[in-house]
Amino acid sequence: MKVLKFGGTSVGSPERIRGVVELISDEQPKIVVLSAMSGTTNTLVEISNCLYRNEKQEALHIIQNLEENYYTVISDLFKTEEYTQKSKQFIQTTFTYLRSFINNIFYPLQEKAILAQGEIMSTTLMHYHLEECGIENTLLSTLEYMRIDKDCEPDYFYIQQNLQRELAKPNVKKIIITQGFICRNAYGEIDNLKRGGSDYSAALVGAAIKAEEIQIWTDIDGFHNNDPRVVENTKAIRHLSFDEAAELAYFGAKILHPSSIQPAKKENIPVRLKNTLCPQDEGTLITEDSPIQNIKAVAAKSDITMINIKSTNMLLAHGFLRKVFEIFESWKTPIDMIATSEVAVSLTIDCIKNLDNIVLDLEKYGIINIYRNMAIVCVVGDFTTDKNGVSAQVLAALSEVPLHMISYGGSEHNISVLVKDEDKKKAMIDLSCKLLS
Ligand code: ASP
Ligand code: MG
Repeated sequence: MKVLKFGGTSVGSPERIRGVVELISDEQPKIVVLSAMSGTTNTLVEISNCLYRNEKQEALHIIQNLEENYYTVISDLFKTEEYTQKSKQFIQTTFTYLRSFINNIFYPLQEKAILAQGEIMSTTLMHYHLEECGIENTLLSTLEYMRIDKDCEPDYFYIQQNLQRELAKPNVKKIIITQGFICRNAYGEIDNLKRGGSDYSAALVGAAIKAEEIQIWTDIDGFHNNDPRVVENTKAIRHLSFDEAAELAYFGAKILHPSSIQPAKKENIPVRLKNTLCPQDEGTLITEDSPIQNIKAVAAKSDITMINIKSTNMLLAHGFLRKVFEIFESWKTPIDMIATSEVAVSLTIDCIKNLDNIVLDLEKYGIINIYRNMAIVCVVGDFTTDKNGVSAQVLAALSEVPLHMISYGGSEHNISVLVKDEDKKKAMIDLSCKLLS
């Protein structure tokens, strides 16, 4: 069985929904994971922000506009009176529910329930549309099986047990439609896998059923060898390993949610990135191994903060790094890059929510300097034994860009450098021109 995930733009209009139907309506059994129609989750975020601020009129106005958009979609998508009415009723119920928050006190947790409506609507409309076209399918609520634990990590055992139970029920059809992004948390409440999390849902579903393949359908022909928004003439990469793809996704390539590699890698399930606008295109295949190539791709991540800690009296005595790491851990802030010298350590973070508290704690151990607006530029390739002096080539290509940190040796397929955000573009272009062409 395959798992196919379609993103927001792939289900973003009646025409695109019909395009998805063509791709899923063969006889092969499959689980189809859908995002919300593009723009919907952002609008739902806006609605809950208005509700927090108690801006009732504004919230009503946004709800009204979104509801009208859905009626427009329905009148184009459905041909029969029966399914037009069914769908309208469903959308009406959803929007009545959204409006019900307006005259009540708004609790933070309700935001999650509001955000969940996007995927609930897109999957229900797809389910009705397939039925109207005479294509048998089952709409399976992800809330029946997708769950995160107290640390917001997926509960693999629960997901597997519950999904398998749902799939074993009588009358389950070959095509199963389910929601991406949403889940229940450890307390049974509606929650989600964070923005862009539908890819992660598809990977978790794929891992739970030990799928033959996980396909992520988007609007681009795969992972590119550099960021097409920054650099011209980028090319799709045909084959990546799980580790290479994880590095690229984490360090900026927007095509895939970084967490989605892990479940696939765990069960060794191939992931294929495909383009809904050009289905015959081969896309990018991600598997355990991939053809070895010196330098495969470049990705970059902006809004990085560098923290430099100069040890006051300990001169990096043993235990110093542990104390530093513990501070970041206690403030639940992941570290991306690290570089040490005898008397100082520099590291980078991208979440600065707790920066003030982190700095206060770090000041016990040294003098702290903060550098904002930095970017990590990551080069992915085969750096196994630094053959052909490949790391020297990376640094030579960057000879005109001031580097603030260099990280090499952490893994065999990543060299990362830290530059000022304003130098990011030049770094990416220089790497492309000198190493990828
Ligand atoms: N609809 C959610 C979002 O916009 C999840 C996703 O699309 O992956 O973040
Ligand atoms: Mg996405």
